Amino acid sequence: MKKFAFTLLLLLFVLVIPEHGQAAAGTNKIFLDGRELTAGQDVPVENVNNSVMVPLRMIAENLGYKVDWNQKSKTVTIEQQGKTIKLIVDQTAASVDDKTVILQTAPLLRGGTTLVPIRFIGEQFGLTVTWDNVQKIVNLITPEAAGNNTGNDGNAGDGGTSVVVPPSETTNGLAMVNGLSFNENRLTIAMDGSSVPKVSKITGPDRIVIDLPNATFSDLFGTGQVLDPNLNGSLAVTDYPDVSGIRYSLYSTSPYTVRFVIDLNHAKNYSVEVTGDSSKLVVIDLNAQSTEDTATLPGNNGRKLVVLDAGHGAKDSGAVGVTGKYEKNFNLAIVLKAAELLKKENNIDVVLTRSDDTFLELKDRAAMANNLKADLFISVHANSSGSSAASGTETYYQRADSKAFANVMHKYLVQATGLSDRGVRYGNFHVIRETTMPAVLLEAGYLSNKKDESQLFTESLQNKVAESIVKGIKEYLGL
Ligand SMILES: [Zn+2]
Repeated sequence: MKKFAFTLLLLLFVLVIPEHGQAAAGTNKIFLDGRELTAGQDVPVENVNNSVMVPLRMIAENLGYKVDWNQKSKTVTIEQQGKTIKLIVDQTAASVDDKTVILQTAPLLRGGTTLVPIRFIGEQFGLTVTWDNVQKIVNLITPEAAGNNTGNDGNAGDGGTSVVVPPSETTNGLAMVNGLSFNENRLTIAMDGSSVPKVSKITGPDRIVIDLPNATFSDLFGTGQVLDPNLNGSLAVTDYPDVSGIRYSLYSTSPYTVRFVIDLNHAKNYSVEVTGDSSKLVVIDLNAQSTEDTATLPGNNGRKLVVLDAGHGAKDSGAVGVTGKYEKNFNLAIVLKAAELLKKENNIDVVLTRSDDTFLELKDRAAMANNLKADLFISVHANSSGSSAASGTETYYQRADSKAFANVMHKYLVQATGLSDRGVRYGNFHVIRETTMPAVLLEAGYLSNKKDESQLFTESLQNKVAESIVKGIKEYLGL
């Protein structure tokens, strides 16, 4: 789109926007040259993984970029002034013209709406993007308005301001690192040009070091990731038990070397894979099988490893009780209490799929237990029914090799809740189907039932349920 049309659209927008245009209350607001953009009342702007995600149509309508959506391939194409960005729903790998970049947060679907990362897109098209972390405001400033200082005076509080890596003759011929992501226990680095990664394992503390010789960061890198003016940055990793974080830096300029460090919670083997021709992906995969260092993994040295899974979390509340209490909070309280008790057991290690109010996909919960080669998997839930009369305790299994475990767990669970016994049942639930060890899903009671709900949120019942989980585990394991 030509600048004239762009300006015209901006002008139209300024004329039609109501005085108090609202981004959904309590969520992030977006200002373009000092004017608030509306996302539409039904579609809130979301902050996902520290990326502000906005509806695609907001970009089309307010920024005047040419936007195309392919329903079949779930691909978003955005064009402006000869530059083309392609993003795919649920994929962190994206492209700018023909270069692969890695997004901090993949585009996602909410109902029929596609949400895309506004900072990344804005910066690609020359907008200055700042973030006021106190007021939760994103400011987009067009080059035209940059001199007028009409924008909200937000600082780049998240440190994510784009850092322009100075181009010079010395960087000619170097490989360019465009981005990184950490997903499914894999570090993926996107890079243009040729650099053969050197990967090594270091102990005390345990970490994996990846050096990319003859490489530097490209201008794109700082838009997808945090990069400070000294060309250092880090990525927090919270959902994977092996990894505490990722660091990266321009380690040396003579010769040029980009270094990534995966900080580990314990020694871990890995495999390295490089794919692509001129635009490459370097993948450091921590799911690699190994016999060498398993002695340091939890659950070894004769100890049994139990994975406790608190159902739901964050945006997914689970069942909502008659008085409005959330299932996710009950589930979390139980696993935290049970984990405390299990930590006192000499022969049992425990890993939680979540230990706070965060969201995890079902497949990630199962993968965590499978990757750890856990001995047992227990998912904690509370139920809900259309009938307020439904009440009581159920234990579910999906695979035949989980049934004996379900019987033992249920025996203690029913005693603990004191609610009516609805039995051990077959249930085709993802987490107990896709796990590879004996796995059960506990439905402690019905939040849609007044009596069950009030009982389930008492400290004494929760303590008893936590104790019953420990008793069941110990009996089943013969400990
Ligand atoms: Zn549930």
